[in-house]
Amino acid sequence: MLPQAFSGSLFIVAAPSGAGKSSLVNALLAQEPGIKLSISTTTRKPRMGELDGEHYHFTGAEDFVTRAERGEFLEWAEVHGNYYGTSRLTVEQEMKNGTDILLEIDWQGARQVKKLFPDAAGIFILPPSIEALEERLHKRGTDEPHIITRRLLAAGGEIAHAPEFEYAIINEEFNVALAELQAIVKATRCRFAQQAARNATLFAQLGIHAHQPQS
Ligand code: 5GP
Repeated sequence: MLPQAFSGSLFIVAAPSGAGKSSLVNALLAQEPGIKLSISTTTRKPRMGELDGEHYHFTGAEDFVTRAERGEFLEWAEVHGNYYGTSRLTVEQEMKNGTDILLEIDWQGARQVKKLFPDAAGIFILPPSIEALEERLHKRGTDEPHIITRRLLAAGGEIAHAPEFEYAIINEEFNVALAELQAIVKATRCRFAQQAARNATLFAQLGIHAHQPQS
């Protein structure tokens, strides 16, 4: 349908902990201008080196729940015993301005976002094997052993929801996986509705109007 309220595209990237999601996303953001990562709010304690406002907006459970009740989150979920949520205002404003937004969220959040934005591109990052997943979680060394065990157990649960996503990337070779992620971003940006929203003047000049369903 033309024109649409949001000229930016929305990308959802999910993965079990240890699949290498954040490294891939960071590399993508460094290479692709015009796409921004939404900074989530969480009640999880900061890990070493994590900065408030840069990696997450860190807050307490009471504040989080109040804001969730006020409808400030586009989606929110409890993951590994902590709350995580995406700011509704930030995402909607950026997308109205034509910025592409990437959400690094879990399957529960992805489901909620897909209901609101059915055109959002859902991408699931898979590890090349369960052993590789375990190894990466241990190597990261930022979490306590009992937290690693909890995350490994949860990995199976997260992976069970991979079929709900349109795209699957197997992160065996980092550069291959990154190229696949970039290809998905580029293809999504070329979707007809997205191009029409971004280039409304050109489309009008060319006499292209809202899609007419075929009879
Ligand atoms: P971590 O604590 O390792 O940074 O993230 C744990 C999990 O929470 C990851 O699967 C991550 O994608 C997910 N997550 C991070 N931010 C959000 C959010 O805003 N909403 C939801 N639903 N999940 C999130």
